[in-house]
Order: sequence, then C-alpha cells, then structure tokens
Amino acid sequence: MEYFFAGTGAELPGTLQFIDLMEDYLGKEIVRLNTVRDFDFYMKLHNNYLPSAQQRWCTINLKLKPFEDFAGNDEVVQYVGIRADEPERAGYLSSKSTITTRLPFREDGLAKEDIINILNKSGLGMPKYYEWRSRSGCYFCFFQRKLNGSDF
Ligand code: SF4
Repeated sequence: MEYFFAGTGAELPGTLQFIDLMEDYLGKEIVRLNTVRDFDFYMKLHNNYLPSAQQRWCTINLKLKPFEDFAGNDEVVQYVGIRADEPERAGYLSSKSTITTRLPFREDGLAKEDIINILNKSGLGMPKYYEWRSRSGCYFCFFQRKLNGSDF
C-alpha cells in the first residue's frame, strides 16, 4: 500500500497538518505530489480564470495527472474515499487501462456517520476545519459550503 497527497499549494494549514497527523498514525510516508507546479502555475496557464464546476482544470492538472504520473505504467489499484451516501459523486477517475479504481466506502455501504466513527475510534478524530467548511481542499473551492457543525 502506498499513500500520496496531491496538494495544490492552496490548502489551508489545517489540511496540511492533518496529512502530517495521518502520516504519523500510519507510520508510513504520504508522498506529496505537485511540489513544483502548484495552483498559481496553472492559474496563469488558464489566463487567470479560476476553475469552476464546468471548467475543472484544477482537478485534472493538480490531482488526476500527478497521480497518473506517480503511478507510471504500473498496474495500480486506486482507492477513492467516496461514501455510500454520496450517490451523486462519481469522482474524476483515470481512463488509463493500468489503473483500476475501487470505492471501498461505497462498496461496504459506509456513510458519513460510519466514517466519523472510524476517525474517532482511530484517535485521529475529525479535522477541525469540518466544523465550518465542507471540504478539505483549496481554501476557495467552489464546491464547499459553509457548515454549522457536524456536516461534511
Ligand atoms: S479542492 Fe476544489 S478548487 Fe481545489 S483542486 Fe479540488 S475541486 Fe479544484
């Protein structure tokens, strides 16, 4: 099992701190991708237009492509954390024939409360930023919503 984090350079400090915590918990390196070309680099390439749900260049350039480069030509099974109670989410999945995608939470019928229980039982708990925002990625992400407590 290998772990990676495709950072954009536009995360809040709390997100990066939680990756460090996860790394300590797992006792194994979480490889950081995108250490050279960050969000600002691709923003300039796109004439300073922010990404949107229709023009999602951020996910393609900062998540999908770095992962495909990291995987190379190896036969890879990729595990994606989409839950069973998120039927609307399909994820941005690779079309490379060497990459097989599994959705373990969905396959096992695990919903939000189950994930919160797993995190609490592990001792990691929920990241603090989920007290007020719905996503862990970029601070300006167009998918996030303001929250009032336990939703995510
Ligand atoms: S967190 Fe939002 S803005 Fe950042 S890469 Fe993901 S979809 Fe794009």
